[in-house]
Amino acid sequence: MARFRIEEIKEMLGRLSIIYDAARIVDPGKCTVLQCGEDGMVHAAASCYGFWGKQTRCRHCSSSCALAAAHNMEKDEVHEGKICHILSAPVEVEQADGTACSCVMELISSNVRSEEMRVMRDRELIQLLVAKTGGIRRGVVCFNIEDECVYANPEVFQIFRVPHGELALLKEFFLTWVDDSRMGESGDIALLSDAEWKQECNIGSKKRMCDVGYHKLFDGEGRFSGYYYEIYDEADPLMGGFPEEGVELVDPLTGLMPRECFFQKVADILRCAVHPEYVLVASNIKDFKFVNSLFGKEKGDEILRLLGKYYRELAGEHGVAGRLHGDQFVVFIPRDELMPNAIMERISEITSKFDSPSFKLCVHLGVYEVTDVSLPVSLMCDRANLAIETIQNVRVNQMAVYKDSLLKKALQDSEILSSFTSALEHHEFEVYLQPQIAKDRTICGAEALVRWNHPKRGLLMPGQFIPLLENAGLIYQLDAYMWGAVAALLSTWKGTPMEDLPVSVNISARDAYYIDIYQTITTYVRKLGIDPTRMHLEITETALMSDRIQYNELIDKFREQGYVVEIDDFGSGYSSLAMLKDIHADILKLDLGFLMPSEEDDRGALILKSVIDMAKTLGMPTITEGVEHEEQAKLLEKLGTDAFQGFYFDRPMPVPDFVEKYYGRECLERNA
Ligand code: C2E
Ligand code: CA
Ligand code: CA
Repeated sequence: MARFRIEEIKEMLGRLSIIYDAARIVDPGKCTVLQCGEDGMVHAAASCYGFWGKQTRCRHCSSSCALAAAHNMEKDEVHEGKICHILSAPVEVEQADGTACSCVMELISSNVRSEEMRVMRDRELIQLLVAKTGGIRRGVVCFNIEDECVYANPEVFQIFRVPHGELALLKEFFLTWVDDSRMGESGDIALLSDAEWKQECNIGSKKRMCDVGYHKLFDGEGRFSGYYYEIYDEADPLMGGFPEEGVELVDPLTGLMPRECFFQKVADILRCAVHPEYVLVASNIKDFKFVNSLFGKEKGDEILRLLGKYYRELAGEHGVAGRLHGDQFVVFIPRDELMPNAIMERISEITSKFDSPSFKLCVHLGVYEVTDVSLPVSLMCDRANLAIETIQNVRVNQMAVYKDSLLKKALQDSEILSSFTSALEHHEFEVYLQPQIAKDRTICGAEALVRWNHPKRGLLMPGQFIPLLENAGLIYQLDAYMWGAVAALLSTWKGTPMEDLPVSVNISARDAYYIDIYQTITTYVRKLGIDPTRMHLEITETALMSDRIQYNELIDKFREQGYVVEIDDFGSGYSSLAMLKDIHADILKLDLGFLMPSEEDDRGALILKSVIDMAKTLGMPTITEGVEHEEQAKLLEKLGTDAFQGFYFDRPMPVPDFVEKYYGRECLERNA
């Protein structure tokens, strides 16, 4: 310890008080400022804490620490809107009587403290806290040098029944509860050191004993920056939490954090951002709803447990894993810990344990790279899930990464969906007709295909909105509109050369969930006095396969009334030719796009031939769609198809164009 004569100290303090806002010597044990008297002795003067406007001794006196440790200590203190930096240097002062007085020289300098500075310091403090307590699963509450509560983890909010984020309220509850006297307020040095004690906690329904720890935080330069308490429920050492009835801090099945805790924890980590970049990985089991019914609930639980265990492992020390609900898990980890290949390998190990001939378990992962830390965590999860949606039809384990374009697409989709109802009211949907051409190259029918004249987006193709409407359960409204529009068109064609031309309408697989298809179509047709044989109904092969019995009944009812039923997109699904004999449709529509992906492919031609032959044997004429070239038309003719539909002949077009092109201008004018 540096030793000075009393004159030297006097002279030094005089000099230093020009540089510092205050320079003084203190006796930290007695909390007094010392003065160098004319008699060559040091004397106790006022209390040292008076300088800080305080009535009682300081809680975190760094001068005491400095004296006890016999080395310099630094600390910040807030005083009258300023952050004061205090350097405490232990010294010995030689007095006139030859004795030495051990005391501390305090050099205080202040800066005007701004709000940004405070925020920055709190942030640094939380980083210190995370570095010190990271991975500890117990309640942690942290205060800055102004005794403001700057952080508490979800467990602490839980204990004190304070809503998440309400730090000021939490501080009130906490300081009322915490028994600081255990740190020794009697003025001894114990106050200054970290301390641990047991304290009863009777907040909530149950009384219990808790371990409480008090710890100080010092920055890299040894400056006292704040302090925190740890609260630890002995009864629950593993979780370190305080589960109240009805509130879980850990999902009992998987050991993962429940939704709200996960959100809170991720937000906390991001606020402290020890790692530069993070990713959020969402996990979803494809068709999990079938797992329980196929294999039983126990098996379902086992899958969730195994995945949960792996995600906890993946989260490791620096991350968090949570269960949002059901089979939806999320893992938040530093970006450099994301090893896609290794992850997919582990996932495959897990899923392969559950493979069976009837079901292949598959897990889809969506990754959101956290580019916007201010985004609420729930929205980060949404983005990771948006990536999963892009692979929803994939039947193997797969990972997809979120891109901003996905969000743009999702927003566009939701805009399209939300404008649907008003679009129907404003007749923005239009019937386009694509001709069907017989072998003799005359027109033999037309397919009605919908187009949306969107006021903002222009002409929309079915691919841009039909899948959305199907998923949203709205497709039946559009289909019913189209059936009505085609019935109305056929009624205006009565007595014209188009009178005999059949028009096909599409029936979506989803329509049957919402409306009585038979009732809806026959009502239009009856009311408008249309010959049912003019109305052809297209039902896709995949729809038929989804519920063969139901559709067979429907098809039979329609056919009894004279309607012509066509199986659409034959060859796109998994059904075999044998299914044709069970379904009593009139016409088979084949799609070249499905059946003959490349023209050089002889196998494609062979398959087509056998399908056409089979249809012939069953007495079903065939229409082949997707004909784009002359050679295709020739080949199909040779293979025996009965009619064509395709861009080679014509694209779908508005009704007036169709009438003018195939029936002449007079017809159009007459029909106008
Ligand atoms: P789809 O029923 O198989 O209709 C045939 C589709 O193939 C039409 O596409 C047509 O434009 C297209 N196409 C015709 N010839 C060719 C060709 O030579 N090459 C190629 N590449 N494509 C050709 P579009 O109009 O875009 O309709 C797509 C799908 O949307 C339809 O496939 C149908 O499944 C659905 N759709 C259209 N209108 C309706 C409707 O009113 N209700 C329902 N539920 N679905 C509809
Ligand atoms: Ca069709
Ligand atoms: Ca088709």
